Amino acid sequence: MTATILDGKAFAAGIRTQVAANVERLKTENGITPGLAVVLVGEDPASQVYVRSKGKQTVEVGMNSYEHKLDVETPEADLLALIEQLNADPAVHGILVQLPLPSHLNEDLVINSIDPAKDVDGFHISNVGLLGTGQKSMVPCTPLGCLMMLREHHGSLSGLDAVVVGRSNIVGKPMAQLLLGDSCTVTIAHSRTKDLPDVVRRADIVIAAVGRPQMVPGDWIKPGATVIDVGINRIPAPEKGEGKTRLVGDVDFDTAVEVAGAITPVPGGVGPMTIACLLANTVTACCRANGLAEPEGLTA
Ligand code: NDP
Repeated sequence: MTATILDGKAFAAGIRTQVAANVERLKTENGITPGLAVVLVGEDPASQVYVRSKGKQTVEVGMNSYEHKLDVETPEADLLALIEQLNADPAVHGILVQLPLPSHLNEDLVINSIDPAKDVDGFHISNVGLLGTGQKSMVPCTPLGCLMMLREHHGSLSGLDAVVVGRSNIVGKPMAQLLLGDSCTVTIAHSRTKDLPDVVRRADIVIAAVGRPQMVPGDWIKPGATVIDVGINRIPAPEKGEGKTRLVGDVDFDTAVEVAGAITPVPGGVGPMTIACLLANTVTACCRANGLAEPEGLTA
């Protein structure tokens, strides 16, 4: 059996189309243009690429993009002052501080200084608590993207056994909360989990969010299971030439695709969904800020 490929690139394009339609409606019917502010401290090359891509896609769906690039040595007080200014700015509906921050900055303090209503990454402690108690919150973008793809593929997730490999605050834990919210029976696995292959083999849904290239082989997958590969790992690719590299996930795609019922590729799976969900969250935040009905299908 060869698995259905869950095409995150196409799915993300669909989300962006829905976001753009909602932005247009907000502009014409309400005279409001949603705005997303992205703050980048320092010059980490990967972060620069992400921030550029976020800014470009924000503008493409018709929203305002505000980029704030700060020196790597920016004092914490200056960053907090900028966030306070963005919190107070009615043209800004979403605020994202690109992580990781330079080591002299306290990430928790910075994230928790963002107005929770504008916290489109969903990392503020208030949003974490709201999600954990099943209340309306801003939902972290990567797990939200995974959930949307799962709902699209399965319809109802109720009663399915889900295993989330990885317990980070940005992927694993919120992913588990979302699956629980959709009535899955959820197991969270991590580096201390005993008999990980057996744990994974029980799952109808496997979410791999570990950061270890091709760690989950096909023989860990229950036949017919749905596999969502969050990992993004760069490995050497000598077949492409000397010094060349390629991206792989946390799942060994070539063996897993022969066993799974459905699987996300890397690249082109979860990755494109993350920015699409950031745009979706910004529209949701804008509607909530203005007391307007939230668009259907753009949040959890
Ligand atoms: P973290 O490093 O924060 O967390 C990794 C998790 O994996 C930890 O909980 C760790 O367990 C667990 N782990 C590590 N080794 C093993 C092992 N051998 N067996 C079982 N579990 C293990 O990573 P993130 O959650 O931030 O990211 C995970 C992956 O997802 C990365 O590849 C990252 O690049 C990618 N990513 C992709 C995004 C996208 O847009 N597609 C967005 C965000 C991340 P423990 O807690 O015990 O240490």
